[in-house]
Amino acid sequence: MSVTRHDWTKQEILDIYNKPLMDLLYEAASIHREHHNPNTVQVSTLLSIKTGGCPEDCGYCPQAARYHTDIEGNDLMSVQQVKAQALRARASGSSRVCMGAAWRNVKDGPEFENVLEMVRTINKLDMEVCCTLGMITENQAQRLAEAGLYAYNHNLDTSEEYYKEVISTRGYEDRLQTIDNVRKTNVTVCSGGIIGMGEKVEDRAGMLVALSKLNPQPESVPINALVAVEGTPMEEEKPVAIWDMIRMVATTRIIMPRTQVRLSAGRTDMSREGQAMCFFAGANSIFAGDKLLTTPNPDVNEDMEMFSLLGLEPQKPFVKKAQPETVEAEDSKFEALGEKPKWSRPEHSIERNEAAKHKSKKVIADK
Ligand code: SF4
Repeated sequence: MSVTRHDWTKQEILDIYNKPLMDLLYEAASIHREHHNPNTVQVSTLLSIKTGGCPEDCGYCPQAARYHTDIEGNDLMSVQQVKAQALRARASGSSRVCMGAAWRNVKDGPEFENVLEMVRTINKLDMEVCCTLGMITENQAQRLAEAGLYAYNHNLDTSEEYYKEVISTRGYEDRLQTIDNVRKTNVTVCSGGIIGMGEKVEDRAGMLVALSKLNPQPESVPINALVAVEGTPMEEEKPVAIWDMIRMVATTRIIMPRTQVRLSAGRTDMSREGQAMCFFAGANSIFAGDKLLTTPNPDVNEDMEMFSLLGLEPQKPFVKKAQPETVEAEDSKFEALGEKPKWSRPEHSIERNEAAKHKSKKVIADK
């Protein structure tokens, strides 16, 4: 039985990533079978509950207010809207709803109270509930846990070194602090990253070093391929080669044997054969639905056809961990503290982020 290690070096990970492909696939698939049923895949539906207008400058993201993209923003959805979407997701085979809000960090107040109510509502539908809301304090994590949250997503995105080339409005340490805050509760951690942002293979390995050091390692690791959206600083990046995706998935599987490795953004550009190789290499989770927050994704019917072709089954909810109980708002042990944590703002200058910001101004001026 392969053991879970927290002391991987970057060089060891690079040696795995660069193995002859057949050896890499064989090793990853063998480890995958030791810890997981190779014929089940967990299916999540990602729901953008608050879109656009984000104050951050993530170079890959069309929701950053400072870039000129075609994203239509919307205010926080209502609990009823979210419930209707969750019921639709459950009917189409999803076991988890992941709610994303384009916020830098959670602020105590009516919007967060609404999100807590959304968590309670979906947990009562017997679906796993995940949130990705930006940075959170320990108290906010406790309140989400009490509402019945199953997972919190907070991606490291890339290596600590390359992070400085992607985002200037917050630091890597804050990502780790939020993950640590979540870990103080019984909520599981979902954290991964994006490839194809112009990083080196060493940065991909560096991100895996950082994720594998977490103890326990994240229960879910999404591997995204950049979707280069016009108007963002990364609009010119070339699509990720399928071989890079397969190598990244296989390496993640070997380094983190027990985690669910999630095929995330970028699946529309992958053939069924490519996705099948990713499943063989250890991916055992996908996002379903025709949109991933704001970028395109294969529709549910296409995915179910692919599952049928490959003999894959959607994983039932709460297979890996028992369903959390929901505590009603009036019985809560925790109250809003109204904390104002000092999340960092490095504000260094990233050339392509600056260029995209100014380009957007020019485009608007030219119209
Ligand atoms: S990735 Fe999240 S935090 Fe960054 S700009 Fe987009 S919505 Fe904001």
